[in-house]
Amino acid sequence: MHIVHVGMEYDVLRENNRIANSNYRLLKEKGVRAIEFMGSIGSGKTSLIIKLAERARGKGLRAFAIAGDVTGDDDQRRMRESGLEAVNCNTGRECHLDASLVRKSLEAVDLDGYDLVFIENVGNLVCPADFPLGAEYRVVVISTTEGDDMVRKHHDIFLHSDIAILNKMDVAGAVGVDPGVIADDYGRLTGGLKAMYMCSTRTEEGIDEILSALEL
Ligand code: MG
Ligand code: ZN
Repeated sequence: MHIVHVGMEYDVLRENNRIANSNYRLLKEKGVRAIEFMGSIGSGKTSLIIKLAERARGKGLRAFAIAGDVTGDDDQRRMRESGLEAVNCNTGRECHLDASLVRKSLEAVDLDGYDLVFIENVGNLVCPADFPLGAEYRVVVISTTEGDDMVRKHHDIFLHSDIAILNKMDVAGAVGVDPGVIADDYGRLTGGLKAMYMCSTRTEEGIDEILSALEL
């Protein structure tokens, strides 16, 4: 029975990859850049997206977001209140977005009217790694409040992402976390090839560097 299970899983992942490639081509055709954000519940994905979208708007980019969550529309409402148009994408029982859900969300808007889409994945550091959505950049967001062992515990998500961000730097001291430990773990995992970006969405420390890294 174990072999059957593995086979099914392989088909699911292969089908997801096929749709993700199709999403990537659609977005390229329409001239819309897509950036995906993964991370735990409470890492600050929504706040970071809102901050980056404000800056992008300031540069004349027309942006919208896809707010992925199991249930509810809290993130979509927060985004809209900030002036960022957003499509709500509930997964129901799934703990990750997949490429076909993202496709439906992309089809819900007129892509000709946009230059950029921020895709917020469900709060989860495990399975989103296996489900690419078709974005140009996959970003993983962790925060100092999650402790200093996040990189050591979640290799896959860091290896499957292009950019890693350590958020909530403003409270690192208060929660007794040394950001250097996290950055060192990340450096070891990635062979020193990639830097971890450190920021605080509250103080805006580090936001400019992230905008540059994302070519915004
Ligand atoms: Mg959120
Ligand atoms: Zn999942």
